[in-house]
Amino acid sequence: MIIFDEKQFAEKMLKSGFQTKHKQVYELNILSKYYFHQGKSDEEVKEFIVKFCEKHIDYFSMSEWYKIINKTIEITKSSKIITGKEVHITQKELDIIKQLEKLNEQKLAFVMLVLYKFYDYKKFEISIEDLFRLCKLNLNSQTKLKLLQSLTSKELIDITMGGKRFVKFADKKGKSVIEIKDFDDFIYEFSLYMDHEGFAVCKICNKAIKIRGKNHKRCRNCQTEYKRNYQREIMRKRRKGC
Ligand SMILES: [Zn+2]
Repeated sequence: MIIFDEKQFAEKMLKSGFQTKHKQVYELNILSKYYFHQGKSDEEVKEFIVKFCEKHIDYFSMSEWYKIINKTIEITKSSKIITGKEVHITQKELDIIKQLEKLNEQKLAFVMLVLYKFYDYKKFEISIEDLFRLCKLNLNSQTKLKLLQSLTSKELIDITMGGKRFVKFADKKGKSVIEIKDFDDFIYEFSLYMDHEGFAVCKICNKAIKIRGKNHKRCRNCQTEYKRNYQREIMRKRRKGC
């Protein structure tokens, strides 16, 4: 699981509890970073984390979680929260991707490039499942490996002995052609740029969306916000008696 914006993730946790079933300790790390980011002291962070656990963990017992919570606080105290990151893709990079014959290769190269830039041009770890989920490619494991090997043999990507991946065609200086600020469904930005059929721009935030019907004009977040405002407006009118 990759969390592209830890602040947003922590805010979601505060609204609706844990977001995953099996990564609760990892999630607590993010929540703890969030509280430190707000300027809370060690003691305060601990208090809030415990409160969160009491609310969201069935049969929570401090004696059981004591070590985990203390360690969480220790680890996250001096680490920076990841939020508001942007990735810019340049013409030179897109030209290289466009030269690839297969669309699946293009998508994989694009996603790898975005990740490499997201991690500030540092080698990164990612599971093959996560990688292809971001590509929105549903393939069998053999095909996935073949695609990775193909890009490796073309000298576009590579992997270290320790299993960290990196990209060899990143352009650090070129002018930005695609800007990615919101990493939900970011592969759509590539499809939109390539003029693939069935993609459009969200009317409100300009993010690329996959068109799912005649009236589909907003991305998921903007649609939720739109609905919320619409309902609020109805309630307001009702109260006023219009
Ligand atoms: Zn939007």
